Amino acid sequence: VKPCRFDYVAPATLDEALRLLDQHRDDAKLLAGGQSFIPVMNFRLASPAVLIDLNRIQELAGLTQAHDGSISAGAMTRHRVFEQSELVRSGLSLIHAAMPYIAHVQIRNRGTIGGSLAHADPSAEWGALCVALEATVTMASSEGERDVAAADFLQGVYATLLEPNEILTRVRFPAWPARRRWGFTELSRRRGDFAIVGAVCTIDVDENERCSAARVVVFGAGDKPVVIEAAGELLAGAPDAQRSAEVGRLARSVVETRSDHHASAAYRSELVEVLTRRAIDQALNRNHDRPAGERI
Ligand SMILES: Cc1cc2nc3c(=O)[nH]c(=O)nc-3n(C[C@H](O)[C@H](O)[C@H](O)COP(=O)(O)OP(=O)(O)OC[C@H]3O[C@@H](n4cnc5c(N)ncnc54)[C@H](O)[C@@H]3O)c2cc1C
Repeated sequence: VKPCRFDYVAPATLDEALRLLDQHRDDAKLLAGGQSFIPVMNFRLASPAVLIDLNRIQELAGLTQAHDGSISAGAMTRHRVFEQSELVRSGLSLIHAAMPYIAHVQIRNRGTIGGSLAHADPSAEWGALCVALEATVTMASSEGERDVAAADFLQGVYATLLEPNEILTRVRFPAWPARRRWGFTELSRRRGDFAIVGAVCTIDVDENERCSAARVVVFGAGDKPVVIEAAGELLAGAPDAQRSAEVGRLARSVVETRSDHHASAAYRSELVEVLTRRAIDQALNRNHDRPAGERI
């Protein structure tokens, strides 16, 4: 056995899981898809005394749509479920198209949205998608629930707002506007690897095809997904290739990049500019009548 010895519990309800968390506090860790945490345990970077497996808790899995058009995902909803869901394909087409960029199908069969957000790898697609789409993250403890914006939930490299007694239970995506365009780009060393840098763009247009709102998010470059705040203003009206290039340069100037064994900070800065521009150009140029989820 590679990890340290641990006790294993698999509660069937959220209440039971929260009670176990209260009981064991810092000695316990939660297990979702295990795709990030089992390797962490195997390398003995974490050695919890108790592992609380969330996989049997039905109320944490699945997708639902509310009357207002928003779509909620239980924290244990697997990447592959998003990839194959008709609801996501029609109602959150950006997410549907981005899912194949997460690892490989075997990993997507197990990995969960909640696990990915809680792990908070700055190169993970889920963080950027949730920030770009202004998703709300719900956390529960035995004392109740609290909601926070995904952009606030993600605090830095492997750091979130989760307290040791909390479980991420749900992610809610606001209703998808009728006239939303989007772009998604990332560069990774091999297909399925984590992104070295990526960029997501949404552009909402009015009936005259003029941009009324735009959001640009860069990920993999710094400690967490970065919203390029001025992009909305720069892309308002009738944006063109010149303006997308301008936002690319702006993104390069505001995103503080880091160096690691995958890429230098300087190379990441170059990617921030190029991929931001490409994501915006995609949003401006792609024919959104094509079926959602087609390879980008
Ligand atoms: C080879 C490989 C390639 C990968 N490539 C990519 C990639 O390209 N892009 C990408 O985004 N990801 C990638 N991943 C990671 C994968 O997407 C994981 O599934 C994901 O990061 C973690 O999700 P999980 O459900 O497996 O969580 P786990 O590994 O089970 O848990 C991760 C962490 O989150 C905590 N946690 C889990 N669920 C909750 C919850 N509901 N509430 C509070 N805390 C919780 C756990 O305690 C643990 O600390 C890759 C993984 C592998 C092994």
